[in-house]
Amino acid sequence: MTGDLPGLLDGLRAFAIPMRTRFRGITVREGAVLLGPAGWGEFSPFAEYGPRESARWLASALESALAPWPAPVRDRIPVNATVPAVGPERARQIVTASECRTAKVKVAERGQDDAADIERVEAVRDALGPEGRIRVDANGGWGVDRAVRMLRRLAAFGLEYAEQPCATLDELAELRRRVAIPIAADESIRRAEDPLRVRAAGAADIVMLKVAPLGGVRAALRVAEACGLPAVVSSAVDTSVGLAAGVALAAALPELPYACGLATMSLLAGDVTASPLAETGGELPVRRPPADAAALARWEADPAPWRKRALAAAEFLPAERPA
Ligand SMILES: [Mg+2]
Repeated sequence: MTGDLPGLLDGLRAFAIPMRTRFRGITVREGAVLLGPAGWGEFSPFAEYGPRESARWLASALESALAPWPAPVRDRIPVNATVPAVGPERARQIVTASECRTAKVKVAERGQDDAADIERVEAVRDALGPEGRIRVDANGGWGVDRAVRMLRRLAAFGLEYAEQPCATLDELAELRRRVAIPIAADESIRRAEDPLRVRAAGAADIVMLKVAPLGGVRAALRVAEACGLPAVVSSAVDTSVGLAAGVALAAALPELPYACGLATMSLLAGDVTASPLAETGGELPVRRPPADAAALARWEADPAPWRKRALAAAEFLPAERPA
């Protein structure tokens, strides 16, 4: 795999696309795309990631460029709308404007009180109607006792699950013994061995999987199979090139019981493709838009630092596995 790297990196194109909403503390999404015989791949590890961590992102980009993805078992992927930690009126507008039947509601935002979370979830339930699904995402912001208290109150609005209510596996496991709402692990999963640790700790009922940090579509499929818990595929705020790999994973999973967190193109002010993977009717189509010359030119950034990061990451690429 690494033998092809210099050639692929020659044609690497870097991008810098402003974000419509600040996310993970960033206001511009930066990364690179590269083209191989199988198509385009995205290499966009966040700025703070060193070569070792970036190697899995590189493996994912190379897989996308060099090998066809596993065969899909479905052609549409249901996705969720995301409601940030806004007031109830804005929450209602977001849900009403979206065609998604599932909403992910951010809770436990620093500086906000519990009443604000409850009002927000209540407004989302009101706007979605009784048939819609609601999940909350605390990004690890609650301690166990607060999580117990909040999830018992929020249960009145019908939750399908709570995403990363607490930070550590021990806390999640304790919480899981104390509440009936299913628990999903997100931040607890950053590398391939994590889902197995989550399961062994009894810390979650559901795992969130992102393709790039796990090293590609095949690697993520192996993780899902080994872990045995239902998976929800989400993005790392990728362009449509990276999103397509998430869509490929969601399309190839034998079971997909929950809407995926792949409706994230709306977070970016632009894309590297001419036909973005944007949600319609609460779903994404299973397709793979190619990068587009005009779009690449519009968001062009200096490719040199990305070639450098890719070469440094290549030192840590996992040994090639038999197909
Ligand atoms: Mg999350």
